[in-house]
Order: sequence, then C-alpha cells, then structure tokens
Amino acid sequence: YNGKTADRILAEKITRLQVGEVKSVPTVVSESCSVYDAVVTMFIEDVGTLYIVREGGLLEGVVSRKDLLKTTLGGQDIHKLPLGVIMTRMPNIHMVQENDSVWLAAHKLLTHEIDSLPVVRTIQGSRGKDYEVIGRFSKTNVTRLFVEFGEGS
Ligand code: ADP
Repeated sequence: YNGKTADRILAEKITRLQVGEVKSVPTVVSESCSVYDAVVTMFIEDVGTLYIVREGGLLEGVVSRKDLLKTTLGGQDIHKLPLGVIMTRMPNIHMVQENDSVWLAAHKLLTHEIDSLPVVRTIQGSRGKDYEVIGRFSKTNVTRLFVEFGEGS
C-alpha cells in the first residue's frame, strides 16, 4: 500500500475504466418511427431514451421520455407523427467514444443534464463525419459502478 488514499485509488479507477467496458446495448429506431411506436418500444425495451439512426446505424437524433410526453400534450395524431419531427437532432447530440473514461461520460451526463449518451464510433463519410451508434451509457451504468465499487470496501 504505497501511501495512496482511498479517494485517490477510486479516482484512478474511474478515470482508467473505459466506457466500452461497461456500455449497454442501444435501442435504435428510424426517423420514420411514429411517436406511438416509440412509446411502445420504450416499454418493451425498458429504456428511457431512443436513438434515431439511418442506414448503417448512423446517428441522427435522440428522443427522451419527456419529449414523448410533451408531444402527447400537443394534440397531434401520435400514430402518424414521425420521430424525425420531434427528436433532438445532430449536431446537437452529446456522445462518447468507447475509449473515453467513465468519469468523462458521467461528467457529461451531469453537465448537460441528460439521462444517457450514445456510444459512437466515428466514420469518415464522403460529406464529413458520421457517428455509428455502438452502445449506450446511462445513469444506470454509473449507479451500477457505484454499487460495485462500494461492495469492494
Ligand atoms: P427526459 O427528457 O425524459 O428527462 P433527458 O433528461 O435525457 O430525458 O432529456 C432531456 C432533453 O435532452 C430531451 O429533449 C432529449 O431529447 C435531450 N437529450 C437526451 N439525451 C441527449 C444527448 N445525449 N444529447 C443531446 N440531447 C439529449
């Protein structure tokens, strides 16, 4: 035990641990998916955020629970309204890469006040950069780590 405090050890652990080692499976839908089908998908998949992708799994947008709730108050036909109309859209999506630290990811969740981040791989497309969705990092991932680290004490 080389004089390190427990705090220092924990800090090293969460800055060394990478998002790719703890990420979850993302739930993705297309832009043409209706608000109604998005609600059903959230229940079936038990997630709070859906990622909207185009062919190749390339990120286009994000829809949260409250985005869907807000839409249901708008009085539009949720069977016909596509997610493309209501989603938060690129380039305004906060993301992380597999080799980012879980500390950075948790920091982004807090500073941007969001529940989850798509984990992406950068693809150099013909018209600039694209982002392939390969995972999801959410507050649940952070809570799981918190509990695991607590068990070790
Ligand atoms: P909720 O809206 O259910 O509380 P969030 O706090 O995650 O869930 O979402 C808040 C807002 O931020 C929503 O409008 C949502 O579309 C948007 N949002 C969610 N995740 C992201 C993200 N990774 N990047 C950018 N915007 C996001």
